[in-house]
Amino acid sequence: CKADHRGALAIFGETLEQALHQRLQIATRLRYALERNELSLSYQPQICLSSGRIIGAEALLRWHNEDRLIPPDTFIPVAESSGSIVPIGAWVLEQACRQQRAWQRDTGQALRMAVNVSVRQLKDPGFIDSLDRIIGQTGMTPGLLELEITESTMMEDHQALIATLQAVRARGVQVAMDDFGTGYSSMKYLQELPIDRLKIDRSFIGHMTESEQDLGLVELMVKMGQLLRLGVIAEGVEHPRENDLLRQLGCDEAQGYLYQKPTHPEHIALLLREQGES
Ligand code: C2E
Ligand code: CA
Ligand code: CA
Ligand code: CA
Repeated sequence: CKADHRGALAIFGETLEQALHQRLQIATRLRYALERNELSLSYQPQICLSSGRIIGAEALLRWHNEDRLIPPDTFIPVAESSGSIVPIGAWVLEQACRQQRAWQRDTGQALRMAVNVSVRQLKDPGFIDSLDRIIGQTGMTPGLLELEITESTMMEDHQALIATLQAVRARGVQVAMDDFGTGYSSMKYLQELPIDRLKIDRSFIGHMTESEQDLGLVELMVKMGQLLRLGVIAEGVEHPRENDLLRQLGCDEAQGYLYQKPTHPEHIALLLREQGES
């Protein structure tokens, strides 16, 4: 697929041949990444804009291969096309649920846990069974689990995807539309999708303070969320001014470097203890 090749090209060098070779190498190494314990999760807090409190966290996958940290934007597309995203994604989901339980046990705070799920996983016939198994084995409260699905991928294979998302929500698990604003969802489509939250892509947030147009689009997306009774979260918030504008616009939640970069689980536990219970 073109987009993946372009990504590989930009990172690894000039020729298509080199890029293809790199991809193959990543695919091969990725097959052993799980059993060699090379994968881990970083967590980024999600902040309630009216209270300023941490109310959730997004799990972000990290791959340490031979003393190098390979960025998810590089290896996830490869994992998707090779199919290894299916076992890796199940591992991520289980790990994230265990972590949420551990935080709750250690700090008394019941965070919502957001996990990225690619459409390749949703299309896997074993997806719902694996979700049930993980919820059962970890004791995760389904209502505190949220699957983030990218807007652009939600548009392929519409009917099958909707059925899977309905099965997800029948379990009480929430669904967020990730990278919202970068796809081409029609209003009608958005209204029909079984989702709970819109996650405004960081490309809009990054420009909203200097571009009237971006500010207007963010305002529009917040309004759409309100109209459709969906929660709205902004990602990529880096500056206090963005935080203030989002609050004024009535955006519910935010996530970004301003509050906290993705970090290790012990650090999140510390932040939770600092903010205290209640
Ligand atoms: P995403 O889901 O849109 O995740 C947000 C990305 O923005 C993360 O990059 C995060 O570290 C970064 N970010 C957070 N706050 C800020 C900010 O204030 N400014 C800027 N410039 N960036 C910020 P990361 O961790 O490199 O992940 C990249 C992408 O890889 C994710 O984009 C997601 O699509 C994918 N990904 C990560 N983990 C998983 C996973 O477990 N499964 C799947 N399927 N995809 C994953
Ligand atoms: Ca995400
Ligand atoms: Ca994004
Ligand atoms: Ca993304």
